[in-house]
Amino acid sequence: MLMRVLLCCGLATVVPSALAMTVYKSIDAQGNVVYSDRQTPGAQAFVIQERKPARLLLERPKPTYPPQAYRYPLPWRGGPFRLTQGPNGNFSHTDAKSRYAMDIAMPEGTPIIAARSGMVVKTENEQVGRGNDASGNFVRVRHDDGSDAVYLHLKQGSVSVRAGQRVSVGSPLALSGNTGNSSGPHLHFVVQRATEAGLVSIPYEFNQPVGTLPNFAAGL
Ligand SMILES: [Zn+2]
Repeated sequence: MLMRVLLCCGLATVVPSALAMTVYKSIDAQGNVVYSDRQTPGAQAFVIQERKPARLLLERPKPTYPPQAYRYPLPWRGGPFRLTQGPNGNFSHTDAKSRYAMDIAMPEGTPIIAARSGMVVKTENEQVGRGNDASGNFVRVRHDDGSDAVYLHLKQGSVSVRAGQRVSVGSPLALSGNTGNSSGPHLHFVVQRATEAGLVSIPYEFNQPVGTLPNFAAGL
């Protein structure tokens, strides 16, 4: 019986101890099919080939994204400011694009600076108030590893970079605001990566602790 179980597993995966082994199939007195590694009269022999480990490694699914070693410096000047909604926040950080975003409450007009070097790939600077786009005014910076940082809800007319421009850590980007789907002045800072399913938010960490506030001013 043990051999039967082993054989079933072996066919589906790998027999770890040998490159190939022979098992024998026979039918016992009760009519049950029996597999054994010993040859008995009338038994039918099977040779089981082990698949090569190198091939198994290739067949493993690739992770969607590598773990982020980079620790983000705080993307603003001034403060200290507090986190009002963190990763998996149940107010609005519930979808794939924003799951690991953080909201930091700060007065409108706070200088927003690049937390990581890269190329500005998209900006919006003209939105007034809630407007049509939930992001409000924003700056999207593509890093050299292909991930994006997005700085959202910026003050109208304050975006000082344009698509195609390279920025380094500390480069001024805009002033914070309260545009788009935002119920109080804050910065929504998110790191995203493009996948086959579209943009997804990926976990990140600041390089220093940020205090938290109750979520009384929760925004998007
Ligand atoms: Zn948010």
